[in-house]
Amino acid sequence: MSALPGRVWFVGAGPGDPELITVKGRGLIERAGAILFAGSLVNEAATRWAPPGCVVADSKDMTHEQMVAWLTDQAARCGTVVRLQTGDPALYGTLIELVQPLDAAGIPIAVVPGVSSAMASAAAAVESFTLPEVTQTVIFTRVEGRTPMPPGESLAELAAHRCTLCIFLSITLLHRIEAGLRDAGWPDDAPMLVVHKASWPGEERIVRGTLATIKQQCREAGIVSQAMVIASPALGARGWAELTKSKLYDAAFTHRFRRGTPPP
Ligand code: SAH
Repeated sequence: MSALPGRVWFVGAGPGDPELITVKGRGLIERAGAILFAGSLVNEAATRWAPPGCVVADSKDMTHEQMVAWLTDQAARCGTVVRLQTGDPALYGTLIELVQPLDAAGIPIAVVPGVSSAMASAAAAVESFTLPEVTQTVIFTRVEGRTPMPPGESLAELAAHRCTLCIFLSITLLHRIEAGLRDAGWPDDAPMLVVHKASWPGEERIVRGTLATIKQQCREAGIVSQAMVIASPALGARGWAELTKSKLYDAAFTHRFRRGTPPP
C-alpha cells in the first residue's frame, strides 16, 4: 500500500468510437492501476489500452456507495485510478456525486474532458449547431422523465428561443419533445435529427425528419436508446442555396489577422 492516496481521474471516454478519447485520457488509461467504467454506455474498447495487471471494473451493477468504496479502496492501492464516463463528464453524469465523498476522504481528483455525444452527433450528420443569422445559441437539455426539470426549463420555454436544442436522454419521450416544440410554436416542418450511437463503428444511425414525422421514423427504425435528438433551424444547411457566410472570412471584414478589402 502506498502512503499517499492516488488520484482519481474522471476521464471523458468520448461518445463511443475509442479513437475519440483525448490523448490525455488515453495516457491515463495506459498508466492506470484501476479503471471503473460505465459499462452500459462506454464502449469497452476504451479500456483496451489498460496495462497488464490493471484492475478493470464495470460500474453498471454497482450502487453509488459501492462505487465510492471501490474508488476509495483503489486510490489507497495505486497512484492512478480512472473513472471513465461517457462523452464529457460535465454533462448528465455523476461527477459531483462521486467527487463529494472523495473530497471528504481527502482523495485528490481531476477531470479530463471528453467529446460529448452532442458534438459527435453534429459531426456524424455534418451539421453546424450555429450559423450566422440563423442561430448563435445551443442549449443542452433533456425532457422530464424520472428526473424533474427545474422551473423555467421546460422544453416549451427553452424552445421559445428558436435556437439549437440538443436533447439528451429523451429518445423514448419523443411525444414530450413534440409537445414542447409545438407549445413553443415550432411548425410541423421544423427539421429534426436523431443520431443513434453517434461515432460507434458500424452502429451509428442517422434519422432526418421533421417535427411531424420524427417520432414515427424512429419507431420504424427501432431506435429506443442511446440517441441524441436535435431540433434546430440550422439543420440541413449543407444543402441550402442561400447561406449567410461567417463575417470572419468575408473579404470586406477587417480583423486582427487580416485587413479587409472594401467591395468594388
Ligand atoms: N456525458 C454524456 C451524456 C451522458 S447521458 C455526453 O457528454 O455525451 C446519456 C445520453 O447521452 C443518452 O441518453 C443519449 O441521449 C446521449 N448519448 C450518449 N452517447 C451517445 C451516442 N454515441 N450517440 C448519441 N447519443 C448518445
